[in-house]
Amino acid sequence: MQSTTLLIIGGGPGGYVAAIRAGQLGIPTILVEGAQLGGTCLNVGCIPSKALIHAAEEYDKLRSYAGDSSLGLSVAAPSLDIARTVAWKDGIVKRLTGGVEALLKKNGVQVLQGWARIVDGKTVEVDAAGKGGKPLRLGCEHLLLATGSQEIELPGLPFGGAVISSTQALAPARLPASLAVVGAGYIGLELGMAYGKLGVKVSIVEAQDRILPAYDAALSKPVRARLDGLGIAVHVRHRVRGMKDGGGALLLEEPGGKEVELPAEQVLVAVGRRPRTEGYGLESLLLDMDGRAVRVDDRCRTSMRNVWAIGDLTGEPMLAHRAMAQGHMVAELISGAPRRFVPMAIPAVCFTDPEIVVAGLTPEAAARRGDDILQATFPFTANGRAMTLESTDGFVRVVARKDNHLILGWQAVGRGVSELSAAFSQSLEMGACLEDVAGTIHAHPTLGEAVQEAALRALGQALHA
Ligand code: FAD
Ligand code: NAD
Repeated sequence: MQSTTLLIIGGGPGGYVAAIRAGQLGIPTILVEGAQLGGTCLNVGCIPSKALIHAAEEYDKLRSYAGDSSLGLSVAAPSLDIARTVAWKDGIVKRLTGGVEALLKKNGVQVLQGWARIVDGKTVEVDAAGKGGKPLRLGCEHLLLATGSQEIELPGLPFGGAVISSTQALAPARLPASLAVVGAGYIGLELGMAYGKLGVKVSIVEAQDRILPAYDAALSKPVRARLDGLGIAVHVRHRVRGMKDGGGALLLEEPGGKEVELPAEQVLVAVGRRPRTEGYGLESLLLDMDGRAVRVDDRCRTSMRNVWAIGDLTGEPMLAHRAMAQGHMVAELISGAPRRFVPMAIPAVCFTDPEIVVAGLTPEAAARRGDDILQATFPFTANGRAMTLESTDGFVRVVARKDNHLILGWQAVGRGVSELSAAFSQSLEMGACLEDVAGTIHAHPTLGEAVQEAALRALGQALHA
């Protein structure tokens, strides 16, 4: 039996970052990955979805120039070769996953390709990529679980045939004429809008009373307007019953209980993801759980000594940058460094059109906590750069304590605002006050000026509104 100090199951952003950091710190480390290095994020999540969204945006832009463009541009009717688009996306994925492999090697991490099965908290067996033979038995001092999550299946709509998950939606062999999307959350809206821009007739079905129910209504409003602009029908407060016999339509229940048919060649089910806890012996450890997620403390320690868990396996928010930060921390803890996972904010970005960013507390969350707050909003209609980008829909909002002006949260919606998330997180992590941001020179003309103006406005000193 081979032994190591740290054994990591799962090579997604949580597991591979933990492995790289452990390698840098000189901790003997083995990483076991059953599918591809990079996990959900690089192979079938963050990166491929953003590639498809970009391609769809470019195609949609070209199509808009083929009409009457106020910019004075005109082009012949554009065409789309989806196979080449998918190949381009695959190329990006390959470059990134190859990069991860090289980084692991450079840092002395031993990578084993195969599915791991937990024997006990210090022993794991690896089925070396189904090569038959006896499984490899590995012993470790520390076991890090980073097995990620998987899509939730709806009982009446099992995946297969016309019913697809995000994984299939990110690699279409051809585009369907029509697509019904179940779930108006991150995936449903990001991919639903992309498909709409690629020319597919898209409809979205959501059980709650509005799209993006996890975000505040002011943030989702410009996205809703854009959906209308793209001709994407949204059916809120609808329940899904299943596919019509013979296919070709989704059966829905209207708020009043009446059954209606929604014609659709394909159905994308995007109703959330759940931690991957089955099929590899996790249950044998009898770890404390939080619902379906493995329960961890503020050091990502599970209820069993020297068994750690990070990323989607530990529940919400299921975001790649959270998994990476946790992985980084666990490696440092194992090296003996004193660390805790207590970020001021884990920013969240929804790559819809327009994009949405939240970092820290919303006004509602701050009020629920009992904070006495100031809040101010600066609209992109008053931002020169937004005008030159033809994207004045949206705003930046800041939330701060009334007594000492400590910034508690930022929210923004608008084109390109995902890139503001760095400024938002930094100001929160560094304990900035409104005066710090208001007094920082922001380059002109940039969308970032709206960040400064929101802070100025909260102080009653807005210059351009
Ligand atoms: P994963 O990335 O899921 O990696 C787990 C790895 O463990 C997998 O490679 C799996 O094969 C391996 N594994 C599991 N069990 C075993 C076993 N028994 N033996 C060996 N290997 C095993 N997040 C963002 O922050 N931004 C985004 O823009 C974003 N977009 C997304 C878009 C889509 C379509 C999806 C589906 C997700 C998106 N996410 C996004 C979420 C993000 O992908 C996850 O939060 C992130 O990948 C979680 O990382 P992880 O390391 O916990 O798990
Ligand atoms: P989600 O939780 O974001 O959205 C699911 C939506 O489906 C919700 O609006 C919910 O009300 C709705 N829903 C649930 N059951 C339903 C039903 N039976 N009928 C109709 N609607 C129903 O989940 P997702 O979009 O599948 O994404 C999964 C996770 O992946 C996200 O929570 C996030 O953690 C991650 N992700 C992140 C990004 C990003 O960071 N940009 C992008 C994609 C995915």
